[in-house]
Amino acid sequence: MPFVCCHGHHETTTVRKGESRRDRIDWKAADRQRAKQEGPIRRASMRIFEAMADPIPLDVIADAIRSGQADALLQYINAPELPPIDLEKVPAKMRKAATPVTATGVAITSAATRAEQKEIAAALQIRTALQSLAWASGESASAGLGGSFTLANPYTVPWLEQRTAELVVEITTTTREAIRETVAQLYLEGGSPQRLARRVKPLIGLRSDQMRAVLRRGEELTVAGVSQAAQTRALDAYGRKLLRQRAELIARTETVFAQAAGQNQAFQLAVDQGLVLAGSVRVWVADPGERTCPICLDLDGQEQPIGGMFESLIGPLEMPPAHPNCRCAIVLETR
Ligand SMILES: [Zn+2]
Ligand SMILES: [Zn+2]
Repeated sequence: MPFVCCHGHHETTTVRKGESRRDRIDWKAADRQRAKQEGPIRRASMRIFEAMADPIPLDVIADAIRSGQADALLQYINAPELPPIDLEKVPAKMRKAATPVTATGVAITSAATRAEQKEIAAALQIRTALQSLAWASGESASAGLGGSFTLANPYTVPWLEQRTAELVVEITTTTREAIRETVAQLYLEGGSPQRLARRVKPLIGLRSDQMRAVLRRGEELTVAGVSQAAQTRALDAYGRKLLRQRAELIARTETVFAQAAGQNQAFQLAVDQGLVLAGSVRVWVADPGERTCPICLDLDGQEQPIGGMFESLIGPLEMPPAHPNCRCAIVLETR
């Protein structure tokens, strides 16, 4: 019986007991495939960040800094609701992207503002990207099991729906926390609220640690006697770089997540159809890189039944990723 690797296509082979499981995974091919899949999620994340920053007036940011109260500003930062879609009213290009998720429903046209429409469109793109990822890994699973079943869409859609909604909320929540913290800090430090507002606006979408890094860089430039204009340019560029890094990290982590979920559902389907013998186990395989962290090293080689949870240093885990940027994989070892 072959096993299925979570890296998707063309990765079916057999692991015999005693063989190194890490060696049976073509990590380079897996990375190449992930890189391809990360693009849409990265771009969608960037669009969510932009959609968050765009509609906020500078005055509102300045008032928040002046008063030390982020509340009025935070009212602008909300996760998009995902109401039912009216496909008739959606532009043709969008309709094509939305077709696989019609049942989940995303209303682009019923959104009140352009910013809301952009956010929903971005969420839709993430959802579509995740969906195609899971379907792709499902197809490879069916190939590995002799093509005797195909992964039906309903097996992946609910998870993807839920995960996309969670992801958008996660991005939004982290951004709100970063804004709250930054406003409080700038209030204590003082300075012209208008000037600080212009500095903060391009940073909306960053995490707290990233916002702090930009503020620190600003202090360093001031100490170094750099002109205001040059500072603004340097900090804008630095902020954009960090936004791209955040989007990159989200995309990487979500790709691992979507692949593992698609694989999980394929395993379950295989069990349901009697294609996998009882007693087959999922094995956690850590990325063989030098920088593999203690959490993943600890998980490496652990066996769990299909549908079971892995025990980790950070609590029970259904599947990779164990943490952002985790590159671990699961293999199915049949008995
Ligand atoms: Zn790790
Ligand atoms: Zn890992």
